[in-house]
Amino acid sequence: MNYETLLKQHQLKITPQRIGILNMMHSAGHITIENLFEEIKKQFSSISLATLYKNINSMLDSSLITEVKAPNYKTHYEITKTPHAHFVCTSCGEHKDVEFDMSNLCKNLVDESTYEVAKTSVIVSGLCPDCK
Ligand SMILES: [Zn+2]
Ligand SMILES: [Zn+2]
Repeated sequence: MNYETLLKQHQLKITPQRIGILNMMHSAGHITIENLFEEIKKQFSSISLATLYKNINSMLDSSLITEVKAPNYKTHYEITKTPHAHFVCTSCGEHKDVEFDMSNLCKNLVDESTYEVAKTSVIVSGLCPDCK
């Protein structure tokens, strides 16, 4: 993945820190800000938590990254992909992408209500194969 292009597409300034953040997010899949901070400090020792938050927020605002909020877990961040659901292991906390067609779900919801859907989030929790 070319992170410079990705940042440019989202009208964000290209900085080595941002590229580092995206790299780590990509290899982790889903990562909390605390874990991201631990990792990023190894590469950019002078970065502060406030700076990391600022970068995360501007990437969230431009939808380059997405937040995943599972009940009882800290917010995880991922690079925005096609809409998908998440399986969260209640034992080890693993966040896993699950392919899921949200369009039917949204269609049913819209049929039933007068709301206009802006965002959909599907979290399924249970035990992963390693914790079963
Ligand atoms: Zn597990
Ligand atoms: Zn995901």
